[in-house]
Amino acid sequence: MPTILIDGQWRSAVNGQTIAVLNPCDGKPFTTIDRGTQADIDLAVEAAQRALDGAWGRMTATERGRIMIRFGELILKHAEEIAQIEARDTGKPMTVARNDIIAVARYFEFYGGAADKVHGQQIPYMNGYNVQVVRVPHGVTAHIIPWNYPAQMFGRTLAPALAMGNAAVLKPSEDACLSGLRLAELAMEAGLPPGALNVVTGYGHEAGAALTAHTGINFATFTGSPEVGVMVQESTAKNSVPCVLELGGKSPQIVFNDADLDKALPIIVKAITQNAGQTCSAGSRLLVQKDIYEKFTGMVAEAFKKVKVGAPEMDLDCGPIVNKKQFERVNGFIEESIATGVPLLARGALAEGLSKDGYYVAPALFGAVPRDHKLACKEVFGPVLAAMPFDDEEDAVRLANATEFGLVSGVWTENGGRQQRMAQRLHTGQVFINCYGAGGGVELPFGGMKRSGHGREKGFLALEEMSTTKTVVLHHG
Ligand code: NAD
Repeated sequence: MPTILIDGQWRSAVNGQTIAVLNPCDGKPFTTIDRGTQADIDLAVEAAQRALDGAWGRMTATERGRIMIRFGELILKHAEEIAQIEARDTGKPMTVARNDIIAVARYFEFYGGAADKVHGQQIPYMNGYNVQVVRVPHGVTAHIIPWNYPAQMFGRTLAPALAMGNAAVLKPSEDACLSGLRLAELAMEAGLPPGALNVVTGYGHEAGAALTAHTGINFATFTGSPEVGVMVQESTAKNSVPCVLELGGKSPQIVFNDADLDKALPIIVKAITQNAGQTCSAGSRLLVQKDIYEKFTGMVAEAFKKVKVGAPEMDLDCGPIVNKKQFERVNGFIEESIATGVPLLARGALAEGLSKDGYYVAPALFGAVPRDHKLACKEVFGPVLAAMPFDDEEDAVRLANATEFGLVSGVWTENGGRQQRMAQRLHTGQVFINCYGAGGGVELPFGGMKRSGHGREKGFLALEEMSTTKTVVLHHG
């Protein structure tokens, strides 16, 4: 089946080429996707522009919202089928895949309901004038998403864009895009007019680069690596096109000596092992106050040993890593940390009977990681937790803010004043206190500071990002 959607029609790539899709559980190909390039992107951008000039552009916000809510209902109706596709493509455990699909439906419910609740302003001006500030769509929006939560990212990026009346071109990841294709089919079934959503599968350096450099787009949003994020920003800047970037993190879990350790433990372990650590907001640094450091890292080590890794249908704590490149990258971090003398405190366990060609990694907990070590600063994007002791509140803030990233932080303390001070001083887009919210929460604005990127997704702020304003001045005398 062709995997490129343009103008409501599924088609093969203009060049006729395809890309093999590999199963992360055994490394074997099981299907193909079309290898879209510049020619396909040109057609997709033209189709999006036609949609804006046609039925989609003329639709009221209420009508757009209704289609999106219908789409959300269809997602729920087909949730099990889409979850199976997602688990096969990414290797994630079935429970995680199922939750992801519920979250996608939630994006369309939330933004479908919000579509007609975004109001403009009326500004008092000179006598004889009526001034309105109206919110309008950017126009053609470009969406580049990664492979770690392909279905959720589909909802996160497209739902607010469509709610605001943009026409979208999506370039999903070549490493995992199958759930997005089924979702796009359901969007058509829900009544989305042709061209309002176009999907071009293909490689990042081909279809992705062609999309962000296209003179026909008016806005771009990207989630992925910091390196590619910079390329996207450079590319869109050449055409003065605004962009939102979400580029991952090295998020700290900061545990003070007055914390409820039993409450913190399972949440901290899950925040780095969920989705095999392939989560931008994974809590990948464990900063523990000196006097409880041995005790708490011991508790985390015991919990790590119980973390089980297996194939999606086994439905354990972790699945495999998504592809060979990432598998080697994650193992590289683990091997280099061991080789440079960082103490390995615990590892999780692989289930029996897994294919030796699968990309399975047993989660690893390292202790006393030197503050300047690569493991303390760089994003692994795998189930690897770096524990470090700190002295006091001042030292905790210094250490927490010491990476180039600024996505999420978790603070564990019962001291109310300290909760407030930490929330103020941490340079991250999200601060969770005595909880940790990797991923969830459609209602909550999400995004980074520093090299984690800029702009906000989710919540009502996403509707502002996905639109611009027009000031209309009427002189009525
Ligand atoms: P990537 O940044 O290369 O890919 C993300 C998306 O960007 C994909 O759809 C890809 O096709 C596209 N892309 C690649 N090159 C492009 C270009 N020149 N122009 C436009 N689009 C392009 O990420 P990756 O190789 O899949 O993963 C590498 C690292 O990125 C990971 O180890 C991790 O650190 C990080 N990552 C972060 C997130 C996140 O949620 N923030 C998600 C996935 C990966």
